Amino acid sequence: MPEPTKYILPESDIPQAWYNIQADLPAPLPPVLHPATLEPIGPADLAPLFPMALIMQEVSQERWIEIPEPVRDIYRLWRPTPLFRAWRLERFLDTPAHIYYKYEGVSPAGSHKPNTAIPQVFYNKEEGVKALTTETGAGQWGSSLAMACNAFGLDCEVFMVKVSYQTKPYRRSMMQTWGASVYASPTDQTQSGRSILAQDPDCPGSLGIAISEAVEVAATSGGTKKYSLGSVLNHVLMHQTVIGQETLKQMEMADEYPDIVIGCVGGGSNFGGIAFPFVRENLVNGRNTRIIAAEPTATPSLTKGKYLYDYGDTAKMAPVVKMFTLGHTFMPAPIHAGGLRYHGMAPLVSHLYDLGLIEAAAVAQNPIFEAAVAFARTEGIIPAPESSHAIRVAVDEALKAKVAGEKKVIVFNLSGHGHFDMGAYDAYFSGKLPDYDYPAEEVAKALKDLPQVG
Ligand SMILES: *Cc1c(COP(=O)(O)O)cnc(C)c1O
Repeated sequence: MPEPTKYILPESDIPQAWYNIQADLPAPLPPVLHPATLEPIGPADLAPLFPMALIMQEVSQERWIEIPEPVRDIYRLWRPTPLFRAWRLERFLDTPAHIYYKYEGVSPAGSHKPNTAIPQVFYNKEEGVKALTTETGAGQWGSSLAMACNAFGLDCEVFMVKVSYQTKPYRRSMMQTWGASVYASPTDQTQSGRSILAQDPDCPGSLGIAISEAVEVAATSGGTKKYSLGSVLNHVLMHQTVIGQETLKQMEMADEYPDIVIGCVGGGSNFGGIAFPFVRENLVNGRNTRIIAAEPTATPSLTKGKYLYDYGDTAKMAPVVKMFTLGHTFMPAPIHAGGLRYHGMAPLVSHLYDLGLIEAAAVAQNPIFEAAVAFARTEGIIPAPESSHAIRVAVDEALKAKVAGEKKVIVFNLSGHGHFDMGAYDAYFSGKLPDYDYPAEEVAKALKDLPQVG
């Protein structure tokens, strides 16, 4: 028998609990502040937006939080996800490194995002909420929430960044297939949308603006609608830890342990999902794995941003959190990894980076697509542009191992497939993909607008 290409766990190995890294942090997270008063907020301040179960998870210090059975039952549609050994990529690179990837593209929406969409909708339903509002950039989060709302019978309203609404019609159709209503943001349906349109009628939209609109609709609904966020928040990253927990088991099956774990970062959720169980092994069980967050050079929040208090959205309605940020007024370049175009970074990922427990690497579009195409031509799967940031960093580490003549065990998270991103591949093949480097002066300028927190 040749050595396996994929490691498959039985459904009984879907994790029973999510891992809450807050229980193992060497220093607690800084408090979350109210956007108007800049005073620490409590659960009641968040209640207009989120169900209490999720608010309690947000601040919980319990290490393990049980996954409700109805959530595990829907997870069974695609979990456990496979872990692959990238034999063909290794041979192509001619590297002594062993490369593994965890593939989250097997979910119905094609990415890791349903891992949190399903429990978020479940807890909202339990508390009697009838509809969820959200924003979406490239459409992956909107489609995941649409699918989850459909599974539990809730209505779903998605504010989709206008430029993506126009360029990604099939993501929009997907959301509509699962029954969601989709609007091109900025819209004229909200105060925040109208005020942006008054200044700039042709505004292409941004994640920050779409968040403001979705938050406003929920906050002014009188409790029937709540808001749902697909990344950044503690509970979202916690839901994603099913990825890393399964990976730990699958690496045991492969009888190896990673020297390096890599995930791409937009808001930080798929990275947190694969990485946190391995951070725990470093913190608690004496392991020494390098853990690397891969971000675009066009939105370099970890590598060029500052660790400061900032607003989560453009209209300053979302809570103020301490995070690595480029400033809430940041207007991202139109890179094709739409899911990575956020000005900030999850407070948990920011905190770990600040404590030196994880590393970060920034990579540009053309080298990313080069790695994506090499991956597709060796492993077969066409990766999402977002996930390809992790592939690029994995390839770079494998090439370093080759130069050093070292057998490194590298694991990365392949957060989704790229079947809705073929326009980006087209642009790459026709040589029309610019590489953006976000200038440090722009960061400095945007940081002047940050809230002044003592
Ligand atoms: C949304 C998305 C990302 C980025 O979001 P994170 O919260 O940082 O994980 C990465 N990959 C894919 C495929 C996505 O859909």
